[in-house]
Amino acid sequence: MEGQSDSWKQKVHPLFIETARVYRDAVQAFMALGPNPPAEKVSEIDGRYSQELEEVRSRYAQAQYTPTADDPLDIILVDVGPSSWPPSQRELNQAFLEHLYWKRYNEPLWIALQKENAGDLDALPRVFRVAADYERVRFGKGPIKPAKGDPDHAALFELGLDLGLSTLTEEELADCFDAACPCGKIHDPDALKKQRSRKQKALQKARDWLATERAKLPTREWMAAFGMHGLYAKGLPPIGGAPPLVYIGKIGGPALWCVSKTGDVAVLAGPEFASISVLQELPQAFSVTSSKELFAMFFPEDGATKTERC
Ligand SMILES: [Zn+2]
Repeated sequence: MEGQSDSWKQKVHPLFIETARVYRDAVQAFMALGPNPPAEKVSEIDGRYSQELEEVRSRYAQAQYTPTADDPLDIILVDVGPSSWPPSQRELNQAFLEHLYWKRYNEPLWIALQKENAGDLDALPRVFRVAADYERVRFGKGPIKPAKGDPDHAALFELGLDLGLSTLTEEELADCFDAACPCGKIHDPDALKKQRSRKQKALQKARDWLATERAKLPTREWMAAFGMHGLYAKGLPPIGGAPPLVYIGKIGGPALWCVSKTGDVAVLAGPEFASISVLQELPQAFSVTSSKELFAMFFPEDGATKTERC
């Protein structure tokens, strides 16, 4: 493949190419295990996949790029990433459950939970069904009903819409998937374009829902706010003994700061993110006047919490 058929490579970020490679290796390793894979082999591959993914991400953590769309995972998942490495079982479980729900219903789980809270009886059975499937997987009582559509294509779109996939022509999209997708098939440009458009519509629907319902939500910690300069902020509810925190980062990247209830800002990245002027501008990016107010956007009337730390 050369010349024209490689034009997609100029449009997608190398982070996507590397992430897709890690994903493909993991899927192929899974497939090689056959129809009844031993549990310890699965968790071995799973562990290696998470670790390699994290290595790629940290290699690109400081890389500058302009996302071509919002990060789909910011809409699908509640968490901004593991709070420690290796991630706790709780974090792995939560991410798994959220992915499962999204794949099945093309709706983020946190939206379904909000609907359920608000008395939407249609949302309730969906949440129950996925929770039951989740338990089945967790206790090795699978298999569960696969989601509609091609899971590898869905995964690649979720990894890469913000990293350039949203800008490719349908021919480029097919060339890109021919090179990157673990399914090993030759891809049909038109079919891929339709899959991309369905994915984008589902994500847009989630964003629209958030925009109209935001004010009515009793618990705001389940959502992200998008500010100026390509920044996102996301509230993380109290976990275990740890207090709630608001994480802030560049869309598509890991959190760079976190804000506690008292408005203290901890810098999670390099010293260039710690300058006084940067810290002063943070609240303004979200149209509030102080970091304390930024915290209150997500936890409007947070009760007493324990000592703040990040
Ligand atoms: Zn494929």
